[in-house]
Order: sequence, then structure tokens, then C-alpha cells
Amino acid sequence: MSMHNHDTPPSESPASDIPAPVSSAVEETGPEEVLYAAHKKIYVRSTSGIFARWRWILVWITQVVFFGLPWLTWNGRQAVWLNLVERKFYVFGWVFWPQEVLYLSVLLIISAYSLFFFTAIAGRLWCGYACPQTVYTEIFLWIEEKIEGDHSARMKLDKAPISGRKFALKTAKYTIWAVFALWTGVTFVSYFSSMEGLLKSVPTFGFGPWERFWIFFYGTFTFVFAGFMREQVCKYMCPYARFQSVMFDQDTLIVTYDGARGEPRGVRRKGEDPASRGDCIDCGICVQVCPTGIDIRNGLQYECIGCAACVDACDLIMDKLDLPRGLVRYTTENALKRGWGPSETLNHVRRPRTLIYGTILLGIIIAFIWGLATRMPLRFDVIRDPFSLGREVSGGMVENDYILKVMNLAEEKRSFVISVTGPDGILLVGDNQVTVDPAGNLEVLLQARLPKPKEGSQSRSDQIYFEVVSTNDPNLQRRKKAVFLYPN
Ligand code: SF4
Ligand code: SF4
Repeated sequence: MSMHNHDTPPSESPASDIPAPVSSAVEETGPEEVLYAAHKKIYVRSTSGIFARWRWILVWITQVVFFGLPWLTWNGRQAVWLNLVERKFYVFGWVFWPQEVLYLSVLLIISAYSLFFFTAIAGRLWCGYACPQTVYTEIFLWIEEKIEGDHSARMKLDKAPISGRKFALKTAKYTIWAVFALWTGVTFVSYFSSMEGLLKSVPTFGFGPWERFWIFFYGTFTFVFAGFMREQVCKYMCPYARFQSVMFDQDTLIVTYDGARGEPRGVRRKGEDPASRGDCIDCGICVQVCPTGIDIRNGLQYECIGCAACVDACDLIMDKLDLPRGLVRYTTENALKRGWGPSETLNHVRRPRTLIYGTILLGIIIAFIWGLATRMPLRFDVIRDPFSLGREVSGGMVENDYILKVMNLAEEKRSFVISVTGPDGILLVGDNQVTVDPAGNLEVLLQARLPKPKEGSQSRSDQIYFEVVSTNDPNLQRRKKAVFLYPN
């Protein structure tokens, strides 16, 4: 699939397939009064090629996952459901509780290491292909182009005075953007509120106050960020651009212009010695397709999100000129300096830094999967009742109260037996057989008894252990330590 639905190479000049030189894709609309920065609107030109295809593949993957997951069901409920009211997070067959925040922390560590790893290998892969800002800008641009036409048509339309056609086109574009943006809001909220419930509210707009707030908040962000702010989010708001250079080194693959091959740039004239000029014909197409409006020929810039649209665009120009592709390409600073070929370049991408990141990342992922696979669907907490002291009871015994919380993480009802162990003579008082609902929890108040300490004993406390065991699976068990207090 081509980016923005262009299947043909860029072409401007009627006399030739090679576009006439154009210096910039940035429309000089003059500074507008905006809150974030003086703004010049960029009319991104569409292009096609291998990297445009990859960007669209990533758009499809991320959006199929995002929009599709809330529609899946599992055991009669939404497959992925972060139920904040019940404080349970359902992920297919797993039910996570707030106490299991460790899994979330490990996921965040995996995300951070993935970012380090992939950035060390090939720069801003995340920004160029998978960041929601890039993905939604891509979708909004596609809608814009379908309605208003290619970049020149959009430029002309914006310059033209208001007319019935202009009004109709703009209204259609904003309406489709708004509906799409609101649906992203509904989808986002459905992860917390269940899609089934939200769908029932759609016809009457009878969402709860928080649902309404988040649908509009998320939808408005999508609409404004992807429709209007676009590259400004990457340039001025995203912190990642500012510290990315720390993760790059001279062997990181980045989108680069090969100056040695391209310069001196300029239009090729008839009869001119081809050796007198470099391969860059200064057509400016690489600038026109750039979503951030920069010129890659000026070297690595923090505004570059690494989308490689300029690579695709320049390759198409090189094809028309019958010159080798790759005047703008993914390469490393070292490769460019030393004239390395692709295999030597890739060999240097495999360096201690990427190997260390990769090994750590793999280790954490394996540990995470192992943790999930061996996760016991039972949790158990014990606290000594803070409002009751240890007291003497009949038979020369001392009694303490304990609140035990049994959490059944499985999606079927389970019965458990609770027992206590500790110093000789320990007894458990109360009903020690409990049945807990699927993905439910039960609090029980039980008493433990121990013989009174002998006269003169200095002992004021003892360690005891509570154990909970499933009645039909002895391997499903948990043990917790507790303190037993003797009265003074
Ligand atoms: S680098 Fe390629 S696309 Fe950019 S101006 Fe030169 S020839 Fe044109
Ligand atoms: S310079 Fe090239 S890779 Fe960087 S943002 Fe612009 S088009 Fe994308």
C-alpha cells in the first residue's frame, strides 16, 4: 500500500517525469497566533515505497489491536478489561489484582528496554512507525487527501476564498475526523468501562459523567493532535526527541543523506558533463514528503522522526534518473565515513551496546513469561485485627483475632481449607472452610489460640503461620506469617 494512497512516483513537471526543483514543502502562510509556537502549515506530499508500506502495516497492526480488542470476549466477559470499579484487570484467561502491580512494572521495564534496544539499532523506529502521534497523523492525512486532494490541491484550497465547494470539503473532512476521533475516545474508555455497556449508551448518549469526560478528552486530543498540531507535537511537546541523541552512537542506523555522492547538487542541464554534478538534482521532493518539513540534506536534526519518507521519495527520483537507489538511506555515521557496504554496516550494528540491551531485554521477557506461566491463581493476606488485643480465654489459653483475605484469581468457584501452625498447642477457632467466587475474594475473621506463657516467662509474642489450601488441588496453596501477642 502506498502512503496516502499514491501509487505513482512524485511528478510535477509536465515536460518530464522528474519534478522541477522546489525548495520547500512548507507553505509560507505567515505566522499565525497559536498557543504553542509561530506556525507554518506543512502540506505533506504523499509518497510510496517500502518504508511507506511498513508505516501502513504498523498503522493496521496497531489499530486492529486497539479497536479490535474490546470486541473480543472470554469466559462471557470482555477479554481485555481494566475494571477499575472492581479493581480487577482481566486479560484473556488472567485476572490481575492491584497487588500484582509487579507485572505492570515489568511490562514498563520491557517497554523501556525495547526503546533503548531498538533506538540503539535504528534510531527513532518507534517515532517513525508506531507512535500514536505518527499513526493517527497518517490516518488523518489519508482522510484529508481523500477529501481535499493531493498536497498542491490542499494548498490551493486553503488559499482560495471561501466558496460552497470549499465549505463542503472542509465540513466533510472535519466531520469524518471528529467521528473517528470520538470513536477512538469510546474505544479507549471501553478498556475500562466495557464495550457492551458503552454501546448501549451510544444511541441515547447516556454515558456516565466520567465516561463522557474521557471520551471527549481522548477524542479531542486525537482530533487536535493528529488533525492540526501534527509535527509540532514531535518538535515541541515530545521529550523523547530531546534525549534521543544519548541513545545514538556512530553505529546506529539513521536516515541519512549521502553528501559525498549527492554534492554538488543541482539541476542537470542538457549537454552538461554528468561528472560535474552530484546525484542530487535538488528537486526538493525529500523535503515535501517530510512530515516535519525538514531537509534531510542538512544532516541529522532533532526534528527528524525517522519515518524514512524521504528515503522512499528519493529512491523514486533515482529510479527515474537511472541512478542507484540510496542517496538518502538508512546508514550509520561510521559506514558513511568509511565507505562500508550493507553487510559491513550491519555487522557493526551488532555491537556490545546492542548485544547487552538485547540480552537484558530477552532475559526480562523470558522471566516475565515464566512468571505468568507459573503464576498461582491464589493470593492470601493475613493481618492481626488491630482493634483487638491478645486476651485470656478459658482452658489457660490466649486468643488473638486475625482477618484473613482469600483471593481466588481463577475464573471458577473454589473451596479452600485454612489451617494454622506455630508453637505447641496452637488451635484455630472458627469456620476454616471457605468458598470463594470466581475472580472474587473473601474476608474471614478467625481466632488463633496458644497456651498462656508460663509464670515468669518474658515471652510477649510468637510467630505463627496461616496456610490456605484448595480442597481439590493441594498444589494450590499459600502460607503467610503472622504475629501472636500475649497480654502483659
Ligand atoms: S536528495 Fe533526492 S529527493 Fe532530495 S532533493 Fe536530492 S534528488 Fe531530490
Ligand atoms: S527527514 Fe526524512 S526520515 Fe526524517 S522526518 Fe523527514 S521524511 Fe522522515
